[in-house]
Amino acid sequence: MPYLNFSQQVKSELVRVQPDHLDCKRAELIALLQSAGALHIGVNGPSLEIKTENAALARKVVSYFRALGQNSTELLVEKETRLRKHNLYRVRMRVDLDQSDLSNTLITNILNKSVPDLGEECCRRSYLRGLFLGSGSIQHPERTYHLEIRFNDISFAEKVRTFLDQLGFNFGIVERRNEYLLYVKDGESVATFLTMAGAHKALLEMENIRIIKEIKNDVNRVVNCETANLEKTATASANQLKAIELLEENGWLTKLPQGCLEVARARKENPHASYVEIAEILGVGKSAVSYRLKKIEKEAEKIAMNRRNKDDNEE
Ligand SMILES: [Zn+2]
Repeated sequence: MPYLNFSQQVKSELVRVQPDHLDCKRAELIALLQSAGALHIGVNGPSLEIKTENAALARKVVSYFRALGQNSTELLVEKETRLRKHNLYRVRMRVDLDQSDLSNTLITNILNKSVPDLGEECCRRSYLRGLFLGSGSIQHPERTYHLEIRFNDISFAEKVRTFLDQLGFNFGIVERRNEYLLYVKDGESVATFLTMAGAHKALLEMENIRIIKEIKNDVNRVVNCETANLEKTATASANQLKAIELLEENGWLTKLPQGCLEVARARKENPHASYVEIAEILGVGKSAVSYRLKKIEKEAEKIAMNRRNKDDNEE
């Protein structure tokens, strides 16, 4: 299988969704014709036409037309050329306004560009699927969450947006090069859309990527937090060692209580140890270590202050 981008992957999955319900097929077909079809006027009269490079989609449209009783459907293939890398498929259904109820419904919906009445949940989902198959695209979730559906008619885009609102979505709308895009950019909405349209494999892939992203974020957060703690320990330890050194130079260290002496020695021997580690070495509590190291620093501060005062007086 050739490499597919994520849009193609989702579409190749959605093309294979085959609803049993006839109304679902009708809803999906209407959405497809509205988003990717056109009314074609040929020598034999008007016909509805869909052009696509996706062979499976062309076959699906033919099978839907037939399921809905339209046997005057033709499938035309234009072979690949130098200018076009893929075959182009045209599915045409001749329109006989007097004869068929279906073509009336289809024509009315397509020409009016309105969202049909979709009574049932399954049909609404099918309509979504048809819209996406006809003119949707989705970014690979590894890069960013973004799903959009293109329209060349703003009033139809607004109607579809209202329909999507009713389904609980909150699509934005933007104009780009004479097209109107309905889009969502949050993972939650993209995931819900894929679920409703029936792209469960794509959804699973997206979920996996989301979990991996979250784990990566968590690991980064933990690493950052540990790094910050290590830095704090290192700074504190450096200050304590300076204090111990100062007390030693001035012969003050041995005048401190036994507990302080022990902590000072342990700190000198383990400059990178945390309070908990020093506490373990000495077999005392962490708060005792913290208290004694603070006392050492305070004593050293006193000496430093005395020295500064002396220096000031001598000047
Ligand atoms: Zn249905």
